[in-house]
Parts: sequence; C-alpha cells; structure tokens
Amino acid sequence: MIFATKPFEIHDGDGIRTTVFFKGCPLRCKWCHNPESFAFKKQIMYDEGVCKNCHKCVGLCEANIVIDGKHVFLRDKCVRCEKCARVCPAEAFSVSGYDITPEALVEELLRDELIMKGSGGGVTFSGGEPLMQVDYCVKVAKLLKEHGINLAVDTSAFVAREAIDKIIPFTDMFLFDIKAIDEDVHFACTGVYNKQILENIKYVDSLGIPMEIRYPYVPGMNDGEVEKIGAFIAKLKSVKAVRILPYHSYAEHKYTCLGMAYPIPDVPTPTKEEIAAATEKMKALGVNVVPY
Ligand code: SF4
Ligand code: SF4
Repeated sequence: MIFATKPFEIHDGDGIRTTVFFKGCPLRCKWCHNPESFAFKKQIMYDEGVCKNCHKCVGLCEANIVIDGKHVFLRDKCVRCEKCARVCPAEAFSVSGYDITPEALVEELLRDELIMKGSGGGVTFSGGEPLMQVDYCVKVAKLLKEHGINLAVDTSAFVAREAIDKIIPFTDMFLFDIKAIDEDVHFACTGVYNKQILENIKYVDSLGIPMEIRYPYVPGMNDGEVEKIGAFIAKLKSVKAVRILPYHSYAEHKYTCLGMAYPIPDVPTPTKEEIAAATEKMKALGVNVVPY
C-alpha cells in the first residue's frame, strides 16, 4: 500500500526523481511531516476548513451528521468506505493509501523515464518505511532495473537485516536519517531505540554502497547531537553527502485532517545561524555537509 507518487523531486537522491511514498512506519518521529505514513491501513483525511456544509455526505454513514445545521465528522464511526470522498463537492475528504500492482506502479513511473535518465535521476522509495513491504519493493525494483532505472531507497533502517539484504541487489543509493546517537534522545524523539538503525547503516557502509545521510535538526529535541552524529558519520566511508534539514511545522494541518494532535506545537524553526553553526561543527569533523 502506498499513499502517493511525486514526480520531479530533486531532494531525494541524484538528478530528477519520482518518489514513491509507502504506507506504514515503525517510528513516530515527533516532527514527521508525513503523518499519513504512520498507519499501514488506508485513512480518511477530513479538512473541516473547506467543508461547504452542503450535507451531501450526511446519511451515507453514521460518521457524517448534522448538529445545529452544521456538518460534523465523527471519525470513530468511519469505516473507510470512501463514499463521502466521492460525493463531496468541496473535496473536504481525501483517502490516504491505495493498493497498486507492481506492474501498474512501474507503468506509471516510466512515464517520466526520459526525464529521469536525462537528469541522472531515477526512482526513490520513501514513506513511511518502504522496507516494511520489502517483497513488494523487490518486485517493483526488478521491473525498474529491466528498464535501467536508477533506484534510491530512503529508509529509517529500523528494519531487519534480511530486508536490507533483499533490496541491496537493486539499490544504487541509500538515503538514511540519523536523528540522534544518544539512545535515550533517540527514543524520546522517535519512540524507538537506535541500535538497529546504526548497525544497519554501518553494514551498508561496509559494503561500499553509496549513501546520503540527513540529520533533521529540531531545536530542543536533538540539537545537542550535532558532534555525536558528525563523529559517527566521519567514520563511514560510503557517505556521498550529508544534509542538515531544519525543522518546520508545515505538516501541522495534515495532523488535524487525520484527527491527530500535533506532537510539538511549541518547537520553533531553527534560525539560519543555528544551521550554519551545526554545519561548521560537522565540517570540522571532516563531514561533507551540503546545502539542502
Ligand atoms: S469513508 Fe465511508 S464511513 Fe467514513 S465518513 Fe466517508 S462515507 Fe462515512
Ligand atoms: S459533502 Fe463535503 S462539503 Fe458537503 S457537508 Fe459533507 S464534507 Fe461538507
């Protein structure tokens, strides 16, 4: 199950790429800008702000009712039949997640084959955690390779070694996040410990597979990890580039549409000076930090 494909991406590996976003993730990063990727199941997103109160969805199910003349969506009663998304003229409902066969997905991805190849780009698996669906990933990757398409895999690395080994034969590049080296900081930020993640990154590095590492910089959460992350990366030999990603809260509205509370409403966006200082600290350790 995936929830989107996004063409013309320039931040998900080399060249111009189409990114495939997979549903399901074992992490719960507090700053995640794809909260629709958390759940493996299909989800209904409802944007109350665009509802025109036409009541066309009322009566379709127990989840859409009227109180004092106003449409109200009762998320707990929704059984995800999608009827409302089909009738709503305001597109207040959207469905996150759909099944697609490997063949149909590859057919869609190949529409941009010339752009991908001409730019030195390709396809990137992202999410969510794509390797939670590794057997499906392998099927898609095999078909892409038959067409000579470059493949990058953007993974949390919080997966079994077996999953990494299955996708390696088809992978030209890995994209890894390192959120923290201190295991307690990592747990507080993501809900999981990082031993498996760091071991998998070291394993891929030992095989000489090119990788890019991203460090999401979140003030007050993992901004004390700069030197530790830099020291870890400095020991790796297959890292092509490191990017520091400044936290932003643009995804807050998506949480609302999913009926979820935004986890870190009071965390500020880091200043340019903070990012510049973190960059200099990493560069001083010999890390190749490039602009995002
Ligand atoms: S998806 Fe189906 S059950 Fe859920 S709100 Fe829409 S019409 Fe009702
Ligand atoms: S169909 Fe759409 S616009 Fe009409 S009441 Fe339902 S959510 Fe609002």
